[in-house]
Amino acid sequence: MTRPVADNPRKNVVVIGAGMVGVCAASYIQRAGHQVVMVDPQPPGEGASFGNAGCFNPSSVVPIAGPDTLKKVPGYLLDPLGPLAIRWSYLPQIAPWLLRYAYAGSSAARVEKQAEALKTLLFGSLDYLMPLVANANAETLVKRNGILIVYRSERSWQADERAWNIRRRAGITWHDLDTDELRQFDPSLARDLIRAKHVPGNGHTVDPGGLVAALAAAMVSDGGQIVRTKATGFKIESGKLLAVSTESGEIPADAAIIAAGAHSKALAALAGDRVPLETERGYHLVVREPEAMPRVPTTDAEFSFVATPMSGGLRLAGTVELAGLQAKPNWRRSRMLLERAANLLRGLPKDIPEKRLSMWMGHRPSLPDSLPVLGRSQRSGDIFHAFGHGHVGMTAAPYTGKVLADLVSGRPPPIDLSPFRPDRF
Ligand SMILES: Cc1cc2nc3c(=O)[nH]c(=O)nc-3n(C[C@H](O)[C@H](O)[C@H](O)COP(=O)(O)OP(=O)(O)OC[C@H]3O[C@@H](n4cnc5c(N)ncnc54)[C@H](O)[C@@H]3O)c2cc1C
Repeated sequence: MTRPVADNPRKNVVVIGAGMVGVCAASYIQRAGHQVVMVDPQPPGEGASFGNAGCFNPSSVVPIAGPDTLKKVPGYLLDPLGPLAIRWSYLPQIAPWLLRYAYAGSSAARVEKQAEALKTLLFGSLDYLMPLVANANAETLVKRNGILIVYRSERSWQADERAWNIRRRAGITWHDLDTDELRQFDPSLARDLIRAKHVPGNGHTVDPGGLVAALAAAMVSDGGQIVRTKATGFKIESGKLLAVSTESGEIPADAAIIAAGAHSKALAALAGDRVPLETERGYHLVVREPEAMPRVPTTDAEFSFVATPMSGGLRLAGTVELAGLQAKPNWRRSRMLLERAANLLRGLPKDIPEKRLSMWMGHRPSLPDSLPVLGRSQRSGDIFHAFGHGHVGMTAAPYTGKVLADLVSGRPPPIDLSPFRPDRF
């Protein structure tokens, strides 16, 4: 890789967390001419970035909490296997987050502002991802054939109109497919689907964990370092960062990035910022050698999950469970995805031998207003937050990396960072 000459002194930068956000940050900071050390107790891409639906969706500008979604919440919560579930024992801890979530989604004007802010991080996703992918020789891991959102009834089609209006205003383009066009586009889909939207500008990876690992390996062969340890704090003197403390000792640093996903809250507090970060737990189920595979990642609008064609098989991913970081997974939520998918893909049975299935649960790092925390910390101008990308972390990571490279290099950020401030709540 030819590394551009930095327009400022070379810094030693410690990136905490080797998920998609940390790895993209490390790669762009390295490209700006700095020396990067990434710390993580796990190998790269083993957190939320491992098990997601793999979509790079600039169209995901619609915040999760909105006037329409809030109306559906009570119904969802009565169904323990619905798209949104809560462990009632966790309610006291998550109640303040839920109140903020309801507030964030209760006004159309507020939602519109959040969408505008999200757009700034999502719009350039593939443009900023592909140079990193090319540098890592990982082109076979990324497909650019768009995605599909499918509907079973006119009611659900109409109910999504507000979301599509937000996307239209954000400049997203798509094709409406009627029943016949949908069957021609993908004959593997169920015959009771009546309509679909095809978003051609989106892309996906056939192996999210493998992609993160490949980008991390390229960062190392370009001169960066990965240290397998847990970051525990910061050594700061008069506002200047001196080192990042880890379980294996101190790593000298001129700048640090907090990109520890759903585990970032305590580190952010040590950097002077109290943020209402929660985990929206999600599940996946992978069917190896599946009887049916969609042509492109396909979202079932009614049941809120995605069926993605991946190198390891058919991945069914989605659902939200509010139960914190410690509770054991409820694998019935993974299994339920297979039942739903059997109604989406023709010929996919509901019963598949265990040996062809694998299940996973992971932690979306989520703020109540669907926006990450991105920017300088209170305690030191050398520490930068980069966490809380919720449902869109794979998509938003590449441009987040570019923003961080500018901040670390002392350049003005290329976008307005005020919607992402840690103290906005
Ligand atoms: C079911 C599901 C489907 C999804 N589908 C999509 C999708 O299609 N498209 C999309 O854009 N997004 C999707 N997402 C969201 C996306 O996966 C996340 O937003 C994204 O992976 C977050 O990346 P991250 O790097 O912030 O966190 P992570 O990938 O979780 O990485 C954080 C890393 O920090 C490390 N860490 C934690 N604490 C410390 C510490 N103290 N010191 C050092 N390291 C530490 C962890 O070990 C981990 O490796 C989905 C999520 C789920 C759950």
